[in-house]
Amino acid sequence: MKTLTIEHPLIAHKLTALRDENTDSPTFRRLADELVTLLAYEATRTISVEPTTVQTPVAKAQGVKLSNPTPVIIPILRAGLGMLEGMSRLLPTAEVGFLGMVRDHDTLEPSTYADRIPGDLRGREVFLLDPMLATGGTLIAAIELMLSRGANRIVAICLLSAPEGVAAVEKALVGRDADVTIVTAAIDERLNEKGYIVPGLGDAGDRLFGVV
Ligand code: URA
Repeated sequence: MKTLTIEHPLIAHKLTALRDENTDSPTFRRLADELVTLLAYEATRTISVEPTTVQTPVAKAQGVKLSNPTPVIIPILRAGLGMLEGMSRLLPTAEVGFLGMVRDHDTLEPSTYADRIPGDLRGREVFLLDPMLATGGTLIAAIELMLSRGANRIVAICLLSAPEGVAAVEKALVGRDADVTIVTAAIDERLNEKGYIVPGLGDAGDRLFGVV
């Protein structure tokens, strides 16, 4: 497994504003959207393309186009929804699946409540969207599901990560023949006793969509 922490002044600037408890929901949504587009630039660096030729007004030009089958973008509900538009703007032809996972507030264990993902992901590149990689439980369960459906390559885009979560995903994949990359804007200090990332940004779902 690879972990890429993307260091870029614009990403750091937007992440700082996202963390600020005074940032309201509309601004938080816009910043999350902008951040995912910036992270997606790195996350798609090795996306599969194939050669193609186009006719310009002047001459033929060699180029590339995205390979088929197209990638699949899968936001993990509910907070991952706040990253969907920013990602699909960059990959408008990608299919979109939805995975609903919730973690128990006491045990922090994840369970699946919605699965709208192709049954066959063989040969597909999957982009999982989850703003917060905290304990890693949700992401590990999501990765296992993608691997069980044959996904070729999995890239998880997380706005913020905890070292415990990154280590847990790494441990879960030890000795496995799985092409998995985590792309994140920052790895924070630690998790607190409630499973929140410190300093983090609080509950990403609540800050995106309100407490419902
Ligand atoms: N999920 C969140 O929304 N925030 C955290 O800090 C950890 C998990």
